[in-house]
Amino acid sequence: MTPGASPAPVEARGTLLVVSGPGGVGKGTVVRRLARRRPDLAVSVSATTRPPRLGEVDGVDYHFLTDAQFTRLVAEDGFLEWAEFNGARYGTPWSSIRAPLAAGRPVVLEIDIQGARQVRATYPEAVLVFLAPPSPAALEVRLRNRGDSAEAIERRLDIARWELAQAGDFDHVVVNDDLEQAVAAIDRILARSA
Ligand code: 5GP
Repeated sequence: MTPGASPAPVEARGTLLVVSGPGGVGKGTVVRRLARRRPDLAVSVSATTRPPRLGEVDGVDYHFLTDAQFTRLVAEDGFLEWAEFNGARYGTPWSSIRAPLAAGRPVVLEIDIQGARQVRATYPEAVLVFLAPPSPAALEVRLRNRGDSAEAIERRLDIARWELAQAGDFDHVVVNDDLEQAVAAIDRILARSA
């Protein structure tokens, strides 16, 4: 450093919070509630190749991409992480998270377990939360009530059994028994990590 020059400014970096856990555990609801409590929190919008469900809006719930568009973004290193889940691809575009992180805002990702593992490898400062159901039976009830086809439900149950066994790899496990308590617990984790 030249004498008299000031040190390079430290790049502002918000906390990257990952909320993961088995499908059907209520990650989406928890993250939406958390965002209501924390207006500074940026919620990442993922990209996916699965078709929109009824009521889902492009650019709000997901960026709905074709296979070719998704493949191009992978080739361009456009994803922090991506994974295949139940026959479709899902990923976190850097473009969804770069600006708020650089501005020092916390950012939350709601992603599957394979994606959380990739974040751990490529972004080790991330804080990983596993959202767990009160019991495996409670999760099964939720998955059966989603309106998916019987075949899709069975596939999701198989995946969920594997997913439930992965909690040990996470920094924190929060049980989603009472919604408000689960949200408050994650809020405290975020406050401690800032
Ligand atoms: P769904 O099809 O029910 O919206 O999502 C299926 C699974 O994909 C859920 O576990 C959800 O958390 C996960 N998911 C959503 N977005 C992403 C993402 O960007 N990356 C990864 N790895 N998983 C995601």
